[in-house]
Amino acid sequence: MSPTLALSPVHPLVDAVDLDAPVQAHGLVRRYGDGDAAVEALRGVDLAVPHGQFCAVMGPSGSGKSTLLHHLAGLDTPTAGTVLLDGHDLSSMKDDALTKLRRDRVGFVFQAFNLLSTLSAQENITLPLALAGKKADPAKVEDVLARVGLLERRHHRPYALSGGQQQRVAVARAILAEPAVLFADEPTGNLDSAAGAAVLALLRDAVDALGQTIVMVTHDASAAAVADRVVILADGAIVADLDAPDEPAVVAALREASR
Ligand code: ADP
Repeated sequence: MSPTLALSPVHPLVDAVDLDAPVQAHGLVRRYGDGDAAVEALRGVDLAVPHGQFCAVMGPSGSGKSTLLHHLAGLDTPTAGTVLLDGHDLSSMKDDALTKLRRDRVGFVFQAFNLLSTLSAQENITLPLALAGKKADPAKVEDVLARVGLLERRHHRPYALSGGQQQRVAVARAILAEPAVLFADEPTGNLDSAAGAAVLALLRDAVDALGQTIVMVTHDASAAAVADRVVILADGAIVADLDAPDEPAVVAALREASR
């Protein structure tokens, strides 16, 4: 049994925090600006995403989704509260150590594929490891390429790949280093529904077959329904925390959050 920490009972799923969880936010507050112009993008968010969970984050525009993701990934500094990423309290870390933690333990997939156009699919996938001074294990590269269905296209440059294939390269790049957490920000936002579904299936497979932990921000209720859990933000606070909801349940909870 993991030790648990009692927090204010916002919801059954968040009132006991798993201290081993690779992603944890405790009392997270982010204020932008001062005085009358101040905006509280996060108003005391408590969240723990356990190992091997696929957690989607949804909410109306301006509800704080991107701000939350950036804080959980150590890309922004909170006004108050703490973030623990892979067991590290980010507030106590110097910039260099934080950069190294992000590089070694965090994978990112964004709406834009962010591939280097002069490199092949395979070179893009192994680039982060190369930059970290590590050699990619050829068997693992092979396995990841097969997992994302790009074995045949491994030597293609991004311009010779479809959008869906390019995003699959980005997913392969993110999972190759076996990160503690994969953060995905609108990963299907630039894709048609078939290509989007293929990318979501890959993320699902990374959770089911590899035990990958994923936090994904999405606007799309059908994408969120692929996750194990859907957290809904409104006005900088968690207003719903749903266990494996289907798409209609996600839509209903979103409608409620938007009132
Ligand atoms: P979402 O991703 O759900 O659309 P955001 O996290 O982008 O929401 O924004 C939450 C709130 O914080 C919004 O009111 C937004 O205008 C504000 N905000 C976000 N980033 C900044 C910033 N850099 N400066 C000032 N306000 C910001």
